[in-house]
Amino acid sequence: MPKRPNWRAVKIHRNYTMEEAARALGVAKGTLARWIKSGDLPALTDHRPFLILGKDLQEFAARRKKVKQSCNLAECYCFTCRAPREAAGKIADYWQASAKTGHLEALCGTCNRLMHKRFSLACLPEMRAVLDLTIRQAPRPIGKCR
Ligand SMILES: [Zn+2]
Repeated sequence: MPKRPNWRAVKIHRNYTMEEAARALGVAKGTLARWIKSGDLPALTDHRPFLILGKDLQEFAARRKKVKQSCNLAECYCFTCRAPREAAGKIADYWQASAKTGHLEALCGTCNRLMHKRFSLACLPEMRAVLDLTIRQAPRPIGKCR
């Protein structure tokens, strides 16, 4: 089963039973029942089998679709805030991670937790223009530590 509901598979001019709706979205029947019970997903529950209008199902699935958040150059994704955040004081540590990528470490401007970001070395000059970068030595791989 796919992990992400496929709302494009839902036809708006069709009615779905619980089984059909679960199959169309690629979720378990229990998940669907929970959505109906919580009132998030409207359904016709007066008679069995319960029916879900295709239009309702599609609107619900589209609402649940997560919006991908991308960071701009001066931002890192903060896992604590669950959003792109600017580095505190626009200060970040940088080291070269590989021949083509750099690694950025900064404190979140909102919650002060550590954030990380990988980026292409081609972006380094632009990155330097927006952030105060401190260049560090790359940490040694764990396997080579003594
Ligand atoms: Zn944060």
